[in-house]
Amino acid sequence: MTRIYLSAPDVTDLERSLLLEAFDSGWISTVGPALDVFEAELAARAGTAGAVAVASGTAGLHLALLALGVGPGDEVITSSFTFVATANAIVQCGATPVFVDSDAESWNMSSVLLAEALGDAARRGVRPAAVLVVDLYGQCADYARIAPLCEEHGVPLVEDAAEALGASAHGRPAGSFGRVGVFSFNGNKIVTTSGGGAVVSNDLELLDRVRHLANQAREPVLHYEHREPGFNYRLSNLAAAVGVGQLQRLDNMSARRRQINNRYQAELCGTDVQPMPVPEWSSWNGWLTSLVFDEDQTAERVRQVLEAEDIESRPLWKPMHLQPVFAQHRVFANGVSRQLFETGQCLPSSSGLSDEEVSRVIDGVQRALAATGESGQVAS
Ligand SMILES: *Cc1c(COP(=O)(O)O)cnc(C)c1O
Repeated sequence: MTRIYLSAPDVTDLERSLLLEAFDSGWISTVGPALDVFEAELAARAGTAGAVAVASGTAGLHLALLALGVGPGDEVITSSFTFVATANAIVQCGATPVFVDSDAESWNMSSVLLAEALGDAARRGVRPAAVLVVDLYGQCADYARIAPLCEEHGVPLVEDAAEALGASAHGRPAGSFGRVGVFSFNGNKIVTTSGGGAVVSNDLELLDRVRHLANQAREPVLHYEHREPGFNYRLSNLAAAVGVGQLQRLDNMSARRRQINNRYQAELCGTDVQPMPVPEWSSWNGWLTSLVFDEDQTAERVRQVLEAEDIESRPLWKPMHLQPVFAQHRVFANGVSRQLFETGQCLPSSSGLSDEEVSRVIDGVQRALAATGESGQVAS
């Protein structure tokens, strides 16, 4: 039996032939037709006027914030419940993250606590340079509440949709909710280019600025003129070719991930085991199934039983306000993300998993639950 991974790349002959086609075309560096197609199709997916492909999601976040003018001394309000890349991008700008906890309804940024954080900043005479909201595990945050708050305080909204390509909320696609949105195509994401990212926006001037900064801030003249420091954050045409194929398969991959999630829910969930809630306004992309157990020790026992079967599982993201590196930062917490971190476990969710492999995972979790004496539907 082979090891079952949490979220493995799912690539086929389609991506292989597009990659070889790009290779044979001679466009093997950071310009080329596959990049143009990839950017156009990403913009279509996100429902935005344009897209700029970059080297990683983190690079995309860094440039999105820089393009909004975020710099040293600024504060950026962001989700605490996330992968560290979100907060690192803020620090890379020389700015300071202020963390906001999650709501129980979507696991994403609480609009109630965001209102508190914005009010607190106003009382201190600070206008945050941006609000950077994460769409966790492939589900959008509640932008119907979050966006008006940002508008009211005159603070630009940035969407970290790294995990959420293909998701939507209130009928609008992930990536389209802020002044600017960012995707990741890292190997564990729903769509991968082996590594990569993109910045999307309706503001084409802002996207020009992102492209400029991603290309060493090189002026459009032959003799290498530079007026400011820049970055080498471009994506290769070869990587983009893989992405073009992945985008064609996105809907199928997303459907398969949600199908796997449905099986986990049907066969594992009950009063003691809960899935991530999906509010009626949300259509998630199925990226990663996370279950929450009603006792602290269960998640770790599930992990151990699965590991003994050569199955990878992981705790949910450890919130940023509990990380040593950000221990001194301002936080608006309500205990939700801490509780999720302490009691939750992510299960293998790759779209390439076979039904038999999903059964292996379910089997392992059921045995772990039986051993702890708590068991959802299992014992009945
Ligand atoms: C993966 C991820 C990123 C960073 O993307 P990379 O392509 O790995 O740099 C940023 N934010 C979130 C929420 C992510 O999951």
